[in-house]
Amino acid sequence: EAIAVQELANRMSEKGADLVKALFNMGSMVTVNQTIDQDTAELLVEEFGHNVKRVSEADIEVGLIGTDDDEAADLKPRPPVVAIMGHVDHGKTSLLDALRGTDVIAGEAGGITQHIGAYQVTPKGGGTITFLDTPGHEAFTDMRMRGANVTDIVILVVAADDGLMPQTIEAIKHTKAAGVPMIVAINKMDKAGADPTTIRTRLLEHEVIVEAMSGDVQDVEISALKKEGLDKLIEAINLQAELLELKANPDRDAEATVIEAKLDKGRGPVATVLVNRGTLKRGDIFVVGSESGKVRALVDEHGKQVKTAGPSKPVEVLGLSGAPMAGDMLAVVEDEGRAREVAEYRAAAIKKKRLVTAPTNVDALFAAHADKAEEYPVVIKGDVQGSVEAIVSSLNGLSNDDIKVRVLHSGVGAITESDVSLAAASNAPIFGFNVRPNAKARDVASKEGAELRYYDVIYDLLDETKAAMAGQLGPER
Ligand code: GDP
Repeated sequence: EAIAVQELANRMSEKGADLVKALFNMGSMVTVNQTIDQDTAELLVEEFGHNVKRVSEADIEVGLIGTDDDEAADLKPRPPVVAIMGHVDHGKTSLLDALRGTDVIAGEAGGITQHIGAYQVTPKGGGTITFLDTPGHEAFTDMRMRGANVTDIVILVVAADDGLMPQTIEAIKHTKAAGVPMIVAINKMDKAGADPTTIRTRLLEHEVIVEAMSGDVQDVEISALKKEGLDKLIEAINLQAELLELKANPDRDAEATVIEAKLDKGRGPVATVLVNRGTLKRGDIFVVGSESGKVRALVDEHGKQVKTAGPSKPVEVLGLSGAPMAGDMLAVVEDEGRAREVAEYRAAAIKKKRLVTAPTNVDALFAAHADKAEEYPVVIKGDVQGSVEAIVSSLNGLSNDDIKVRVLHSGVGAITESDVSLAAASNAPIFGFNVRPNAKARDVASKEGAELRYYDVIYDLLDETKAAMAGQLGPER
């Protein structure tokens, strides 16, 4: 077992350079990128006054969605999760209400529909659909900011009498950045000034080519108010879902994503989760973010208790130690001791800065240099974990066959000397998202010629990176 000095520093929330110094005093000359063995690591940890606790990578990662793969044979179709976005007043809320009314099962159940953050409908003709019922970009963006991608399909609502507005364009950008397929719902078709053709044409400017313009983005004309065109919209969703071949293994311990959480006066901490895979059951012991708990009750959007919740099913979970945050992931674990252990570890590591793929030895360092033409290494620091995660995943999305973004390190907090030295070693720029370097880091950066770039808008960061990557490839490609 070996660990990179930088990674150990991150886990201890100490500076890499300070660890290097301490190691030097202990008689070993290593850089932040080199690895040390477990015994040395323990000495170092004690030296810094931390408690030694051997936690394997698997322990930290437990419950992180998608860490182990399911057998293809175990995968079963699951309902699509749909988010509704668009400009204010274009009819998102009205559409969510109208769609809620298409459910043929709710009527029988007879419960009062509550807002829990998402609801499911099974329209006439079958095909259950999960709708996130927080309209606007907030839900979608917040979740993505926290590294959670629960949305399978986005419905972009555009009012036929108003056209493309700033938030419409924002929504298009967010959707494209997330790589989520879109369906355009041209709303308010009942209005006198409705002009769907202009909307279709204007969408071209934003590289949204709808079917009516020979593209592959489905477009449906609707009236949320008059409840017209809803069956067509549902058909479009089902078709898109079919293309996506959405599947999950329902027969395993559940993994779920928190979409809302609150402290309820009567019921205590309550989280609405969307099950990603597996089946969540009453009595299950789980970890969620840095909280843990045992499922005391599962409540659906009709206010009814359910015993289990399978993939894509939104439910309120009762029995948490505290309220988690939207985007946190819930994972069922074997027992309470384990749940507490992981939750405590996560709480301690909340500012954890994880080294993604730093070169761990000299060979790797050289390899990184040799391959420079095909890699674009970066170091990312941001003010909140959510933005950092969103930036990392969006940057990874910029990779193509010719050039790949390589995140050497990402983390929360000011840009430190160790960030700079890591970046300088690989000739990587350092991106500060709403953060700046401390004085020492600035000194090191100017000495080592490390490039510091500051952003407060993710899209600017992505645009500039895209341009820089293209520049690195040269004009011949
Ligand atoms: P949101 O801000 O996007 O959630 O928009 P709302 O759903 O709150 O709708 C804004 C306004 O547009 C409300 O007054 C709705 O009644 C109205 N509205 C929504 N859909 C339609 C529609 O299909 N036709 C007409 N005429 N009005 C609509």
